Amino acid sequence: MVTSPAGGRVLLRRLREAMAEPQSPQTRLDKIVRIIAANMVAEVCSVYLMRAGDWLELYATEGLNPSAVHNSRLKVGQGLVGDIAAHARPLNLSDAPEHPNFVYLPETGEEAFHSFLGVPVLRAARVIGVLAVQNQTRRHYTEEEVENLQTVAMVMAEMVAQGGLIDPSEWEEAATKRGSSMRFKGLRMAEGIAMGHAVLHEPRVEITQMIADDAGVERQRLTRGIDALRKSIDLMLADVDLAPHGEHREVLEAYRMFAHDAGWLTKLEDAIDSGLTAEAAVERVQLDLNARLSRSTDTYLRERIQDLDDLAHRLLRHLAGKADTAAHEGLPDDAIVIARSMGPAELLDYDRTKLKGVVLEEGSPTSHVAIVARALEIPLVGKVEGLIDRIDPDMRLIVDGEQGEIFLNPGPEIIRAYEEKNALRAQRQAAFAAIRDEPAVTRDGVEVKLNINAGLLVDLPHLVETGANGIGLFRTELQFMVGSAFPRLGDQTELYKAVMDAADGKPVVFRTLDIGGDKALPYLEIEPEENPALGWRAIRIALDRPALLRYQSRALLQAAGGRPLSIMFPMISDVSEFIAAKAVLEKEVGRLRQLNRPTPENLKVGTMLEVPSLAFQLPALLPMVDFVSVGSNDLMQFFFASDRGNPRLADRYDYLCPPVFALLRHISKSCDAANVPLTLCGEMAGRPLEAMALVGLGFRSLSMTPAAIGPVKVMIRSLDQSALARLLEQLTDRPDHTVRAELAAFAEANGVAV
Ligand code: PEP
Ligand code: MG
Repeated sequence: MVTSPAGGRVLLRRLREAMAEPQSPQTRLDKIVRIIAANMVAEVCSVYLMRAGDWLELYATEGLNPSAVHNSRLKVGQGLVGDIAAHARPLNLSDAPEHPNFVYLPETGEEAFHSFLGVPVLRAARVIGVLAVQNQTRRHYTEEEVENLQTVAMVMAEMVAQGGLIDPSEWEEAATKRGSSMRFKGLRMAEGIAMGHAVLHEPRVEITQMIADDAGVERQRLTRGIDALRKSIDLMLADVDLAPHGEHREVLEAYRMFAHDAGWLTKLEDAIDSGLTAEAAVERVQLDLNARLSRSTDTYLRERIQDLDDLAHRLLRHLAGKADTAAHEGLPDDAIVIARSMGPAELLDYDRTKLKGVVLEEGSPTSHVAIVARALEIPLVGKVEGLIDRIDPDMRLIVDGEQGEIFLNPGPEIIRAYEEKNALRAQRQAAFAAIRDEPAVTRDGVEVKLNINAGLLVDLPHLVETGANGIGLFRTELQFMVGSAFPRLGDQTELYKAVMDAADGKPVVFRTLDIGGDKALPYLEIEPEENPALGWRAIRIALDRPALLRYQSRALLQAAGGRPLSIMFPMISDVSEFIAAKAVLEKEVGRLRQLNRPTPENLKVGTMLEVPSLAFQLPALLPMVDFVSVGSNDLMQFFFASDRGNPRLADRYDYLCPPVFALLRHISKSCDAANVPLTLCGEMAGRPLEAMALVGLGFRSLSMTPAAIGPVKVMIRSLDQSALARLLEQLTDRPDHTVRAELAAFAEANGVAV
């Protein structure tokens, strides 16, 4: 058997020569099995290729009965060969007939052979065949022999893909069958239904050349690729945008560790020395690591398989010079982008006319990527584990952002069902449109003002479409996040002016820059922090770098001219921060007055309440503010000490529970008593059952994602809020983790449309 890299090199050279000879694909395959058998000192070498219907057909053999070729078949899962194909992993046996899965095929005459080594032939993570060698003696093949046979299988995969042996449509048929109506459950992160074709956010690289001409050149390419990979990981780690995704930082730290691992590098270099190209070496080493880790009993190591796969794909992209995301490649018109995780700016990078849906393996509903997806009305399902491995580019899929489900390769019945669902959705939208101009008044006569959250120009038409009262939260940071440099004063003024023009007299509340945490600006370096959500962000940056806030205030005041203007500050943790921020704004007002320029006829200055400490300073705060807006996304993150971006914690706490009610009731009562207008602009405002609770707790203004206005209005118009307020009083002192079921039962019993 081949036991050295030199032996491997000789074998690869012979294979390359055989592949270059002008002959029919079948003759070439026959020759190749002979070369492998001779080189590996095996009495048998056979190759089975996958046919339609999940059949593995014997395509060539050296050593078994030649008449069995094209006449001997095994189903995937059947026999040793079928077992290898089913599990996509090698089998190394010293006494094959003893193995419980051994199936004796009389036509092959293989009973004489005891030892057996078989490996899958893989193409783009899919099994397209099995390559096996056999010997008469009972022997155990060495790890090195297994690795060498896997290398040969990779080359064989390339040869099969070149065509002439099997019509590739047979694999597509098999893939469609395998994937048909495969359903995945995830978390609803942005509503809506999308049907389209899969696009991997980080595209895979197809390896077209396996055997190298010059090992020296390949080593140099590898060194350059590894350098670029390491630099890109360092850059990602320095990016604050990634940090609050909880697990994501850990993953990147693991990447960094692996990317600097000397053992990994040596393995890659050895694979190159055996005659492979740098790309083939990466794949080869990855296959081997995968096989080893999946056998490991250590769960931590097994869980690292995905990280290592990801890392290998990244390295392949650097080698191919394609390190960008799919946003910069040709997208289909109905792209469904699939990523492990994604920041809000990366999502905004996509052409919105083509992007129809997004699926993330990680993510949580209050993360900013989810908020941006909702603003853009792009259905998003998160926390869909293990999806990327099953995706082939261009696969059809359905994203159901209402149920939090994904269907891969949906069959005609599922497609029909979803077309109907879409039609029903359209009907529901029409019903919402019909009450567009009706007020949101409860059955017992209490009016609730419904506003939309916005942040981009694309959001503005929603104000008219939904009939909302105004914009309750304009996230100004989105303009800063989509650009490659700080927007100039003129650009800021222009955007704010366009927003006020579009609002046409309806109130708009501008929130000053809320960056840091998971909202990174590509051009603003923030030192990596242990806890970015608790770190240097939002108003803390603004007060430490007052020029930013000063310019933004100037832009807002100029855009308003003489019109009314409402401004609020994010992440205020104590009253002194509000006082300091307001002073910056007032200085700008004073400057305008000095210049004899118009100042807003009615300037309202308020605060977000999203840090629990502020809820305990209301007596000092309320006399100073014109309004309060509860940011429940952050408030709940800090209240429960539970990272809003961490998918593991996404559904750990339910906001519909007595302690949250106690906090929100305290805020609403205090504002009422002080006559300070109160609103809530976090994601919970847009969920009908949560919105119902908020109305019961005394909230009379809510601000939400535009698509939620219709459903929340329907809920309010069917609600008797005084009955609900009584129920909420009764639930106050309950020890329950959640009272969702009680609220749902109330809605059901009282005909409230949630
Ligand atoms: C919030 O925290 O609830 C909020 C509205 O602000 P953001 O989601 O932008 O942090
Ligand atoms: Mg917030």
